[in-house]
Amino acid sequence: MPRYDFRCRSCGATFELRRTMAQANDPAVCPQGHEDTVKLLSAVAVTGGASAGAAQQAPSGGGGGCCGGGCCG
Ligand SMILES: [Zn+2]
Repeated sequence: MPRYDFRCRSCGATFELRRTMAQANDPAVCPQGHEDTVKLLSAVAVTGGASAGAAQQAPSGGGGGCCGGGCCG
């Protein structure tokens, strides 16, 4: 169940409430009993997403060896 942060505009207190998403926009009452509260936008941690795929390029191997230039002969 997600938690929502609220702030009371009467006394300035911030508090958290755990409620369902369907109740996210319901008015919250300050623990001190005030009803003038606003819901704070909390940063939702979203994991995943598109990561920049680094294309790995294989180094072009040159052929040949020591026998290319007749060094072995
Ligand atoms: Zn309050």
